[in-house]
Amino acid sequence: MAQEACSHIGAITSVKHPQRRECEECVKIDAQWVHLRTCQTCGATLCCDDSPNRHATKHARASGHPVIASAEAGERWLYCYPDDAFAEY
Ligand SMILES: [Zn+2]
Ligand SMILES: [Zn+2]
Ligand SMILES: [Zn+2]
Repeated sequence: MAQEACSHIGAITSVKHPQRRECEECVKIDAQWVHLRTCQTCGATLCCDDSPNRHATKHARASGHPVIASAEAGERWLYCYPDDAFAEY
């Protein structure tokens, strides 16, 4: 990582990408999402805060997994919840 936004982002050596372009939780409840994010601790792909269910944020709070990456094509950034830190890669 060229610029270390925080220690969590600095510890990421390779960015996890989505296995499927869908929110794992929304598909179970037949809900809609806006954008997708991939957890950098466990690789779960979940929906963003613009989505009705905000699964990525709920997952981060429940699991303590700090960093997500955008799972959107053309977006290359990481976000750390505990530090509110953002980094492009
Ligand atoms: Zn952090
Ligand atoms: Zn969702
Ligand atoms: Zn996770």
